[in-house]
Amino acid sequence: MTLKPTQQRNGNLVIPGERLGVIEEFIPDAGTYVKDGIIYSKIVGRALMDMLNRKVSVYPLQEGATIPKTGTTIIGQVGNAQSDNVFVNITKVNTRKKKLSGKFGGILHISDESDRYIASMNEVCKPGDIIRAKVISEKNQVYHLSTNDKNLGVIYASCGVCGNLLEQRHPGDMQCPKCKNIEKRKTAPDYGKEPL
Ligand SMILES: [Zn+2]
Repeated sequence: MTLKPTQQRNGNLVIPGERLGVIEEFIPDAGTYVKDGIIYSKIVGRALMDMLNRKVSVYPLQEGATIPKTGTTIIGQVGNAQSDNVFVNITKVNTRKKKLSGKFGGILHISDESDRYIASMNEVCKPGDIIRAKVISEKNQVYHLSTNDKNLGVIYASCGVCGNLLEQRHPGDMQCPKCKNIEKRKTAPDYGKEPL
C-alpha cells in the first residue's frame, strides 16, 4: 500500500466515510474510525489535524461555531513554555460570541514576536497567562501565533511566586500586589480589562 499524503486541510468540512489520513501519520481521535489502517470520519463535521499531538478528530458542526484561521485574532492560555517558543491553548476566536468547534492549540515563537531583540519568551508571556494573539500562518497545519501588534499581548498574568494576579505599573512592567514580586510581560493596552 502506498501512503498518500494527507490532502485534508485543517478545518475542512467532512462527511461520514471520508478519508482523513492513515494511522502511520495520525492517532485517530473523536469522531473518527479506522479500517485497514485508514482513518475515516464518522460524522459530518470539521476535520481537525492536530500536528502538535499528531491527532486527527472531527468536531460536529455547531451553529455559529468557528475555527481559527490565518489573520484572525484569538484569545488563549499559555501552556508549556520554552525559551524560544510557547504553546497556547486557543479558547476564543475574534468575538466572544463565537464558539470554537473543537480544541485548538497554537505556537508562539520568539522570532515572530518583535523587531527588537528578545532574549527569552519569559519577557513576552509565561505559562498560565491569558494572551490575545493573531494567527499569522497555518504552515504545516500548525497555528503559528504572534503578539507583535499594538493591540495584542498578555491580557492577564499571574505572579510566578504566589499566583496572585499581576498589576501593571508601566507598560510591560508588572508587580504582584501581594508579594511585591516584579516581572516583565509584553502586555496588550487593555491589560486586565478584557472580560473573561
Ligand atoms: Zn506574588
